[in-house]
Amino acid sequence: MKFDPPSYWESIKGFLSADEGAALYRYALSAPPAHPQSPVLEIGSYCGKSAVCLGLACRARGAVLFAVDHHRGSEEHQQGEEYHDPELYDQEAGRMDSFREFRRNVERAGIADTVVPIVAASELAARAWATPLAMVFIDGGHSLDAAMRDYRGWAKFVLPGGILAIHDVEPDPAKGGQAPYIIYQKALDSGRFEDIEKIGTLAILQRKAPR
Ligand code: SAH
Ligand code: MG
Repeated sequence: MKFDPPSYWESIKGFLSADEGAALYRYALSAPPAHPQSPVLEIGSYCGKSAVCLGLACRARGAVLFAVDHHRGSEEHQQGEEYHDPELYDQEAGRMDSFREFRRNVERAGIADTVVPIVAASELAARAWATPLAMVFIDGGHSLDAAMRDYRGWAKFVLPGGILAIHDVEPDPAKGGQAPYIIYQKALDSGRFEDIEKIGTLAILQRKAPR
């Protein structure tokens, strides 16, 4: 099935190219054959750009998308930082809040019956998690600490044959932060994942079957 994004998809605030979005859709559309309805989980939803791609795919196979984000923004989204968006600033709370915009985009895409927002820090949500996942998409905080926590907290829930997708993997330090690249390397070094392909800065890994 080809990804046919809603016409407004490009205009959703976010950090994902159309090619990367189409790849997320494609990989979320299938699941390990023994677990056809196993869920997908993303860390870092922001305004829902990736969640719309993953959620439409999940919906097509009767699966659920868990979308984890505290919606307070990463370091680069805070006031005075490079990617700050004043429209997402909650004056009253004095903090970033992307949840309203996220919810609006989820409803607009017709996937409110598929997406479970988890408005919490990734490390908190991971603490009590127990459900095996068809796919994990890591696109949260980009400090080394945050990326390592996301990798350690969530990669272990990917089912054999399932997908670990990591965004902003940039091997060249001159072109971007290294944390996503470091956890990508860690996943490969663990011997548990196989390198499948790279679309833009989106790395796709597949969990090997146990032997
Ligand atoms: N996937 C989005 C972009 C995500 S931007 C898209 O397609 O456009 C990164 C997001 O990660 C931000 O919304 C930020 O609030 C969230 N984030 C950063 N650190 C986090 C943490 N520790 N727990 C949960 N969310 C976090
Ligand atoms: Mg990203």
